Amino acid sequence: MRRKYNNPLVVAVTGGIGSGQTTVSKLFGKWGAKVINADLKAKEIMQKDREIRRALKQTFGNNVFFRNGKLNTKLLAELAFKDELHTQKLNQIVHPRMVSYIVEEMEEARFSKRYPMVVIDAALVYEINIEQLFDAIVVVYAPIDERYRRVRQRDGMSKQEFFSRVDRQIPLEEKRKWADFVIDNSGSFEELEREARQVFEKLLRLQQKKEKQGVAVS
Ligand code: ATP
Repeated sequence: MRRKYNNPLVVAVTGGIGSGQTTVSKLFGKWGAKVINADLKAKEIMQKDREIRRALKQTFGNNVFFRNGKLNTKLLAELAFKDELHTQKLNQIVHPRMVSYIVEEMEEARFSKRYPMVVIDAALVYEINIEQLFDAIVVVYAPIDERYRRVRQRDGMSKQEFFSRVDRQIPLEEKRKWADFVIDNSGSFEELEREARQVFEKLLRLQQKKEKQGVAVS
């Protein structure tokens, strides 16, 4: 019979653009965690939620949706990340709904009792003040030059666009100080996997403690 977990550990895996948080979250998923990707949730909401679509059109113009109704993510990103004010406007539209969807999915995963750990892959944990949702926060760190190199290789993002997005996030050096666990992703994938595994084992031990106590461990 499958093992049941009454008190899964709720973990945020965060970082900054290109630091490797999604890569780490996927590893955690491979090792048995339920993973919820906040970015994908936000995209899903912008695509499907009628109120959010209306607010996006009002704020950024009708062109942020193609004629077939699909979101023009490239244009929206250009408009939203051009300055602080527009980034804030986008966040105000999307984040409250995104957080409530994430909480719903977290609860579903908890009730299923199938997972020792529920992982939220989210860049903006500290920016939107949702730290209190989690038993533990993991920050994935990489030096800025390496992050840019990886993002450029992934999707050809220009240096200007990369740094304008970096400017909209709290510096990774700060987040690293606040984290419960830091995973250093300055090296190879193999090194990353080794570090991530060590942190995952520690999180599993925290889960065992939480399971025994039946309460939050933080
Ligand atoms: P983003 O929000 O940009 O997706 P992220 O923190 O989720 O940021 P990832 O998507 O995990 O970052 O990684 C960014 C890119 O860097 C991906 O193409 C990934 O495959 C690559 N990458 C991650 N870690 C390493 C590594 N150690 N060596 C080489 N490439 C890596």
